[in-house]
Amino acid sequence: MLDLIDTHAHLDDVSFDGDRADMFARSAAAGVRRWIVPAIDRGNWEKVEGLATSRDGIYPAYGLHPLFLDAHRDEHLDELPAWLACHGAVAVGEIGLDFYVEGLDPARQREIFVRQLHIAKEHDLPVIVHARRAFEETIHTLRRIGGLRGVVHSFAGSEEQARQLFDLGFHIGIGGPVTYDRANRIRRVVAAMPLEWLLLETDAPDQPCVHHRGERNEPAFMTDVLETIAALREVTPAAIACATTRNAEKAFGLAIDDWRNDGSGAPAH
Ligand SMILES: [Zn+2]
Repeated sequence: MLDLIDTHAHLDDVSFDGDRADMFARSAAAGVRRWIVPAIDRGNWEKVEGLATSRDGIYPAYGLHPLFLDAHRDEHLDELPAWLACHGAVAVGEIGLDFYVEGLDPARQREIFVRQLHIAKEHDLPVIVHARRAFEETIHTLRRIGGLRGVVHSFAGSEEQARQLFDLGFHIGIGGPVTYDRANRIRRVVAAMPLEWLLLETDAPDQPCVHHRGERNEPAFMTDVLETIAALREVTPAAIACATTRNAEKAFGLAIDDWRNDGSGAPAH
């Protein structure tokens, strides 16, 4: 039986409101039995928290996502440290920079991103980073602040950029896009990278794998990502599953022994 962790799944999304219990059942049946759920703005912190306390194996992250810039207020940043401390956060996220979508003020994005990176550092938490058309600046910012760790999720950069992230103590999250034949660059990165920095994710409900193109993505589909990566690296899916689950446990400080021994999945901190 696989024991996989979906390290990036927006399971609080309204698209799951109608069949959330079934979605979790399909996920568990596929071997994906733990989930990191990153928040996107102040408006969904309560829903993410409610989800995380509703069943074992759901780990919340809290933060302000760059795509929802218009919703963010300085007071939300002021509230973040207490939320992280009091609501079982395993990371600060989802945070980052998005220079792909037009109309998102870059200066304001930078201000909010940098402030959250400092909060993560002060709280000794990993960060879950969204970077689109912004890999160079993201790497530069992580290096400049220093003392950080975490994951750049849905990584789509170059081998060189991946190597720079590993040097900074950052994992890369790989999901549905790697299953597309045309994704040559990311396939090359995944085939050759050190396994210790690899995390699996879905980004559900977005970014479905090729077999579920156009559908709502969900954690049960992560086995397609696993099988693609195993084929690219010419190893068994079980070997990738074992390594990436351990990576996720370490990256997010999940209570390995608690989970294995009694299945409680209680967060370590
Ligand atoms: Zn996301």
